[in-house]
Amino acid sequence: MSGTLHRIAKAFGGGWNCPCGRFSLGDTCACGRPKSRPRALVSLHHECNRGCEGCADTLERTQDERTSLFYMEDLAGFEEIIVTGGEPLLRPVEVQNWLDDYNMLAQRKHQRVYLFTSTSRPHLYDLVHFRWIDGLTFTVHKNPSGEDIEAFRQVQGIAGDSSHLNSRLKLDMRCNVYLDICTSSWTIIEPFTWMGLEESCLPHDAVLFDWQGPLDGSVR
Ligand code: SF4
Repeated sequence: MSGTLHRIAKAFGGGWNCPCGRFSLGDTCACGRPKSRPRALVSLHHECNRGCEGCADTLERTQDERTSLFYMEDLAGFEEIIVTGGEPLLRPVEVQNWLDDYNMLAQRKHQRVYLFTSTSRPHLYDLVHFRWIDGLTFTVHKNPSGEDIEAFRQVQGIAGDSSHLNSRLKLDMRCNVYLDICTSSWTIIEPFTWMGLEESCLPHDAVLFDWQGPLDGSVR
């Protein structure tokens, strides 16, 4: 593509730079690589023991923002896969089955896979055993209970001891309790404002998928 066409395409928001060096206009580069998109949130199930107001899982208004996912291969173009729920730690065996399947089947050479959790106390220990994750994102929500704060301390300890994990902490700005944050345990500490009920609470650069396949390890 000439320099002029390149500038015109960019000016109109079209085109993308493939890691192979080409500038491409379509969804697939001439080298065969699909257009990269930032993040896919993959909801494996909808169970959660919290019940936050404005949860994307429970609000009608987010239903048209959700995309059914039948094939793991459809996640190939994303840079980051974020496995979520509901609360994924409520069903750790099924989540691990999905991760094993995904690692086996999908082209994830250039992808990072994260677990998105607000913790489920009984299954906290499973965090250190998950295979095929590059990191975790842990959220402290509004009005954390004493148990939540204890869970935060434990996850922070796991994050600090797990140098192979890229651990990110999200803090709801309405969290009005003192947290003893160890900055060296976290790669990113991100305070965030919980969206109003009329707004989408989904990140703008993410696509939210609902996994429609099995969670029993039978995809492989
Ligand atoms: S912890 Fe997450 S999934 Fe559970 S209710 Fe809150 S926002 Fe929803």
